[in-house]
Amino acid sequence: ILSKLPNVGTTIFTVMSKLASDCGAINLSQGFPGFECDPELLDLVNKYMKAGFNQYAPMSGIPVLRERIADKTKLVYDVDLNSENEVTVVSGATEALYAAVTAVVRRGDEVILFDPAYDSYAPAIALNGGIPVYVPLEMPDFSVDWEKVKSAISDTTRLIMVNTPHNPSGYVWTQEDLDTLADLIQDTDILVVSDEVYEHITFDGRKHLSLVTHPTLRDRTFVCGSFGKTFHVTGWKIGYCLAPPQLTAEFRKVHQFLTFSTATPLQYALADYLAEPSRYLTLPDYYQQKRDLFCEGLKESPFKFTPAQGSFFQMVSYAHLSKESDYDLSVRLTKEIGVASIPISVFFSNKKDHKILRFCFAKKDSELYVALDKLKEIK
Ligand code: PMP
Ligand code: GLN
Repeated sequence: ILSKLPNVGTTIFTVMSKLASDCGAINLSQGFPGFECDPELLDLVNKYMKAGFNQYAPMSGIPVLRERIADKTKLVYDVDLNSENEVTVVSGATEALYAAVTAVVRRGDEVILFDPAYDSYAPAIALNGGIPVYVPLEMPDFSVDWEKVKSAISDTTRLIMVNTPHNPSGYVWTQEDLDTLADLIQDTDILVVSDEVYEHITFDGRKHLSLVTHPTLRDRTFVCGSFGKTFHVTGWKIGYCLAPPQLTAEFRKVHQFLTFSTATPLQYALADYLAEPSRYLTLPDYYQQKRDLFCEGLKESPFKFTPAQGSFFQMVSYAHLSKESDYDLSVRLTKEIGVASIPISVFFSNKKDHKILRFCFAKKDSELYVALDKLKEIK
């Protein structure tokens, strides 16, 4: 058949996780926590399942969860949201991203993507007939060159897709980044999708600046969040989309036919769980300890790196060690030393090899120590 996505194969996350499992390697490739979530959260799900909360939830999410998400937004970002018409519960950030793109991108519309970008953005644009316009991020820190964004904007630009903290680099947008984006688009009809799934994972005292905090950006942005990342339950596929009422209305038109609604007992459990803010406010410290442990150990490996600013990924470069492609090296390290990683070429539009691997450090300390011992052996 004539494929609608001729250039899309199996995602690298599936490929590397399978290879890691086949080889019995430590899996630092696909981004998911290698430890259990809080047992209290499991008890809550259990409680609601047993109490009969097992039928369809309201399309936009149960009211109490939407309220708790609005409370979190107030507490963390000091922004007031109307939980009735500015907050929607979704089945994972991937769904939110797809629904937002589908809600606003028409055939022939240009969508600006930063390059490298998370792998679900380009297919979502393609399936809606949009045209991706790539703006390369600046090496080595993957920051934005705003002059390049300015030249990429045209009369047919419909949307800009932002990701902060950034996967795979961990780069965290600054206030200047937000202000410059706002200046560039304030007199246009350009909308923004902001992927903020790592909003609670930032390091060294850095604060995540949600686009919802910016008065200009807030009026035109879909902010996508994920409880999978925040509460160590990536398999639950539950998150949210924050957007002003008009955009939320369009977003929900798509959401209601994409998934309609999201697992009911998970929504009740998360609503209760969110009532205690320390459960997400402690996340930066929790992950900073892991990032520091991982980076300390990496110093004894031959890799070069700058500690990540945010996310649960650490990039390392090896151009000084080997001419192998990043894909070949990540496969070889999985097979020969037993540590799986992600070759970051997969995130680039042209698949260019920058000789950089990405490791996920959302793992038990004991597992990180074993992986680091192995990585020291690399020649
Ligand atoms: N965006 C980014 C940048 C991600 O890294 C991920 C997943 N790891 C997602 C979106 C998807 O989140 P979810 O699992 O909630 O769909
Ligand atoms: N977002 C995760 C990562 O970057 C993977 C999610 C997935 O496998 N789709 O590793």
